[in-house]
Amino acid sequence: MNINNIWQEALPLIEEDATPIAYDTYIKKLTPVSFENDTFYFDVDDIFAKNTIEKKYIDLIENAIKYVSNMKTVKVVMSIKGEKRQEEKPPKPNFEKNTVNQNGLMSKYRFDNFIVGSSNQLAYSAAVAVAEMPGDVYNPLFLYGGVGLGKTHLMNAIGNEVLENSPDAKILYVTCEQFMNELIKSIAQRSTDDFHLKYRKLDILMIDDIQFIAGKVQTQEEFFHTFDKLWSEGKQIIITSDSPPDEIQQLEDRLVSRFKWGIPVDLQQPTFEMRVAILESKAKAINFDISNEIIQYIAHNIKSNIRELEGTLNKLHAYSKLMGSMNLETAEGLISDMIKQNRQKITIDYIQEVVAAHFGFTTDDLKSKNKERPLAKARQAAMYLCRKLLNENYEQIGKKFGNKDHSTVINACKKTCILIDNDEDFKNTVLDLEKKITDM
Ligand code: ADP
Ligand code: MG
Repeated sequence: MNINNIWQEALPLIEEDATPIAYDTYIKKLTPVSFENDTFYFDVDDIFAKNTIEKKYIDLIENAIKYVSNMKTVKVVMSIKGEKRQEEKPPKPNFEKNTVNQNGLMSKYRFDNFIVGSSNQLAYSAAVAVAEMPGDVYNPLFLYGGVGLGKTHLMNAIGNEVLENSPDAKILYVTCEQFMNELIKSIAQRSTDDFHLKYRKLDILMIDDIQFIAGKVQTQEEFFHTFDKLWSEGKQIIITSDSPPDEIQQLEDRLVSRFKWGIPVDLQQPTFEMRVAILESKAKAINFDISNEIIQYIAHNIKSNIRELEGTLNKLHAYSKLMGSMNLETAEGLISDMIKQNRQKITIDYIQEVVAAHFGFTTDDLKSKNKERPLAKARQAAMYLCRKLLNENYEQIGKKFGNKDHSTVINACKKTCILIDNDEDFKNTVLDLEKKITDM
């Protein structure tokens, strides 16, 4: 709904209760101009119209708009055409604009806007301890966890906090890729001395998403020496990764063991309560007046990733600014679109993982030629789910299951369908798996 539509729907309601003269001469001629928070701004022709409406009809108009727009409170403000509008300014955002500093730090990521709960308590405490005593307690601080769970946020928060207490501290935040690219450039330009000087003189070095160093032999070599130089001088090193040190592929043993020196801490998926708290805090930060029921609806449906939680909120915010309002129904529509998009991210690999784990096999088992009964049944169910949930063609599915023929996949789907029809337990198992896969 936009403001004009709301007004067109409200007019007949007002007409019912206003005198015909007032309706025709004043109310009908109001021009809706804009809408902010719960306030509707109108232009009126002159001071008489303004006075009359304000004295006699303002409640009637506000109630009609409230009814049509489904909003809890509505305020109407009128200004005379051509005169300067006395707008009530919306409150200033209480978050300073994000800036990226020379040291790479993003100012918007701070401890005070990081919501703490059971899933990130440990990581948070470790980060705070490091900010208080860099180079002392956890060195290196190794934070790991899935996408969008707050690693980059916490890392930057440490840097920002340290700088507040010691503005002269030499801190550098880089992504692993930046580190790598700079190294490559310095080699090409024969300026590796400068590179060393830059990285080995720091008080705190932060490298984000270190997993990208996998298999990069020369970068690992360089990082190893940087690490040892800084560490031996008691300088703080902070590293993030999507997985624990042992599970980073193609990473030199000497780096794996160093990464474990300071106790790696992980960030896990947020609980429902945390998701609600995060949404509330983010909504406040962007001045988005959103109802509790919508917040809960989002928190129920978006579970695994705080970045997505935030993205959803921003999308609803943009929409509500555009359309002038946001109710649960609209929110549900928008979010279900996003959930569907999420669904498109489900892959054959993912389905294989879930199904294999459920039946106690590995994904390699599923791709093998072994036709023993429980394994064959699991494989067939996985193929069936790939077909059903991804609508993938038989040939492609077969390929991903250890290069099996498309007729094998067709057969598997048929057999699984028959089994579902005849075996209640199996049917429930498949339904559970389906739910697990789509409920990412
Ligand atoms: P990661 O680096 O783990 O992929 P980020 O640190 O980039 O995740 O976090 C993704 C988004 O979620 C960021 O906007 C961040 O501010 C927000 N975020 C993550 N965890 C929290 C939290 N506990 N409280 C508030 N915001 C959070
Ligand atoms: Mg990150």
